[in-house]
Amino acid sequence: MSGGWEGSNRRNELPPNWHTVIRPAVLQRDEYRCRNRIDGYVCGRRANQVDHIGDKHDHRIEMLQALCEDCHNRKSSRQGNEARWAVKMRRPAERHPGLL
Ligand SMILES: [Zn+2]
Repeated sequence: MSGGWEGSNRRNELPPNWHTVIRPAVLQRDEYRCRNRIDGYVCGRRANQVDHIGDKHDHRIEMLQALCEDCHNRKSSRQGNEARWAVKMRRPAERHPGLL
């Protein structure tokens, strides 16, 4: 009964009580409302996702927040972009033939 993206290897990164304890606890604490801020305003739509605020391996409840599906997808894809950028930035610097 979960979203499609949850089905794959990502589940391996989550603690065993994620779906039974942690995730419901975060959603309840945030009253099932999306805590994402868009231009300074809290989104507030019905949340059905739980997002890692910091490190994705940090599963403490205070390091998690409820998100609606839209915001979660947007955040995931933005992280993907940042990761792609990071890879680009780590590439060896190109030679600058004109530089002294
Ligand atoms: Zn939202």
